[in-house]
Amino acid sequence: MPNGYPNAQPFVPAQYAGLAGKVVLNTGGASGIGRAMAHGFARHGARLMLLDLDADGLAAARAELTAAYPGLEVETVTASITDPDAVEDACAATEASFGRIDILLNNAGISMNKPSLELTPFEWKRAIDIDLSGVFYCSQAAGRRMVRQGGGTILSTASMWGLTSSANRLAYCAAKAGVVSMTKSLAAEWAEYCIRVNAVCPGYTRTALVDTLLARQALDGEALLARTPLRRLGTPEEMAEVALFLASDSAAFITGHALVSDGGWTADGF
Ligand code: NAD
Repeated sequence: MPNGYPNAQPFVPAQYAGLAGKVVLNTGGASGIGRAMAHGFARHGARLMLLDLDADGLAAARAELTAAYPGLEVETVTASITDPDAVEDACAATEASFGRIDILLNNAGISMNKPSLELTPFEWKRAIDIDLSGVFYCSQAAGRRMVRQGGGTILSTASMWGLTSSANRLAYCAAKAGVVSMTKSLAAEWAEYCIRVNAVCPGYTRTALVDTLLARQALDGEALLARTPLRRLGTPEEMAEVALFLASDSAAFITGHALVSDGGWTADGF
């Protein structure tokens, strides 16, 4: 797959203020964008609790992170974000290990590509449970702790499909639009507690999730590139960079915002 225009500007990661020592609870941290965010926050000296359903993926991510960042404090918890009790336990475990939760990263998610006439109630419910309700359970459980401790920040990985829509993605688009809406509601509601709430809206990004869809031909790689003005897919590191900025002190006046990083996809209505 070609990688953008020949003279395209290279991606260069930055260093952001106020992240060193922060306690980050990162759902979906075993893979893809969540794992890249774990690297980004580790690079900034944060302390990490990675939550995922995938225990092997968590172990691999932890090993990779501790090798890359000597002295890094990183713990893992195997849980599903669809289970409010398990989410509560994971937040309690984060507090037990690190004393607080400063930053919640809502990354865990699944895709759901299916014609609406064929979408089963089970598939609809699964997408909404994971991609929307799970974000609420984690935001509420972490948010209650942030209120008690006097502040924090929540960053949810929504999607460009939360801002625009497409055929054959009904449940995913509805869930991600819900995450964008939740971001704004919580930002308005929790500003008085010094909790900022924002979202990242990635376009197509090279992760296991997208590679699986490409392999199943549920996505057409060439068509994706042709549809993307910058003519390439995003990288997990580029999405992590948006999260680092929005969670940092450099974004202190930004709340209730959904920041799009999609190579121009949503800008181009043609
Ligand atoms: P990924 O499949 O690489 O990672 C998702 C992780 O979430 C996996 O480790 C998986 O085990 C975990 N997970 C799934 N269900 C879970 C549950 N119920 N409880 C706990 N963990 C669970 O996918 P990714 O591409 O890194 O996606 C991360 C987020 O970014 C998702 O919310 C996705 O919708 C969103 N996103 C991805 C893209 C993209 O192109 N890759 C674009 C827009 C938005």
